[in-house]
Amino acid sequence: MSTISTERSAPVTIATGIPVFDGHNDTLLDLPLTGRSFFERSEQGHLDLPRAREGSLGGGFFAVFIRDPEFVMDVPAPAVAAGIDADDRPAVVMGLAGRYSDPDRLPPQMALDYAQREAMRAVARLFRLEAESAGAAKVVRTAAELRQCLGDGTFAMELHFEGAEAIDPEFDALEVYYQAGLRSLGITWSRPNRFGYGVPFQFPASPDTGPGLTDLGKALVRECNRLGIMVDLSHLNEAGFWDVAAISEAPLVATHSNVHAICASTRNLTERQLDAIRASEGIVGLNFNCGFLHPEGNRGSDLDLGCMVDHLDALVERLGDDKVGLGSDFDGATMPEGVRDVSLLPNLIEAMRARGYDDATIRKVAYENWLRVMELTWGA
Ligand code: ZN
Repeated sequence: MSTISTERSAPVTIATGIPVFDGHNDTLLDLPLTGRSFFERSEQGHLDLPRAREGSLGGGFFAVFIRDPEFVMDVPAPAVAAGIDADDRPAVVMGLAGRYSDPDRLPPQMALDYAQREAMRAVARLFRLEAESAGAAKVVRTAAELRQCLGDGTFAMELHFEGAEAIDPEFDALEVYYQAGLRSLGITWSRPNRFGYGVPFQFPASPDTGPGLTDLGKALVRECNRLGIMVDLSHLNEAGFWDVAAISEAPLVATHSNVHAICASTRNLTERQLDAIRASEGIVGLNFNCGFLHPEGNRGSDLDLGCMVDHLDALVERLGDDKVGLGSDFDGATMPEGVRDVSLLPNLIEAMRARGYDDATIRKVAYENWLRVMELTWGA
């Protein structure tokens, strides 16, 4: 169907001299919806391998996200019914973020067999990308593999579940997916499941939107600790966050969230949450979604890159410069024009330089801090 470049591209250090490892993308979801190839440069979506090379992206977390069943059946119609512009692709792709802003309109929890079937498809998609890349891309399972990839220019893909809907109460699927390569798991997306309660998308609002983890959710955290699967807090509500903080022996991680004091979205982190992340030696990945950056919560793409650096400054001030990374949300959110796809990542690096970030700090934020947390969580 498509021409796959088997040529090994040059190392990732071309565009900025510094590779970026990114805490979140929804590319596994976007590829089948748009029908594009990961190996050909496209104007659709935000991330493919040629554009990753242009932008010095060395790799990132590839999320497996399960859409609501009725949404999969007919993509645009429910969006239109819910008042979302069918051309607002991020909103359509992610399955009606709008409907998750009202706790009284939440869809029913999805069936396990459906979620497992969909997860199987998405995980297979990732492994097929690895196979088709003929060595240009690799699913990383250890910190040493991640370090190696970032050093030699092999594109590093970390398997992540955004929501644990595909995990059964006996954790059989968790065991199997771990053996396959699962190394990071968000207990919830922004909806409830058998393990906990995600934050509905609200602005301005506190992330303290409901109850904490279920007993099964607490057991899931322990299982993830035992196996060495990173637990991602980005879509959890605040009570769930504190439950994980009390139970988990690993660093606390929010792969793609911002600063609540600047943008009061439920998806962002309060100062108390940031303090807990710092105390645990954890990390926060900066989310590029305009609605989680803009001080007024505006979702349009006409957002200055300086606003992204404002969040980075606040994260560095609260966490220290070794606990801040990037977590773009490419292919799952509305990006600011200046980084409208991954090829423009160097613009963000330049904006950091313009604000006075030196090369050593930029390296930490770009990839070294993620490496540090993966080493602590997975073992070196
Ligand atoms: Zn997300």
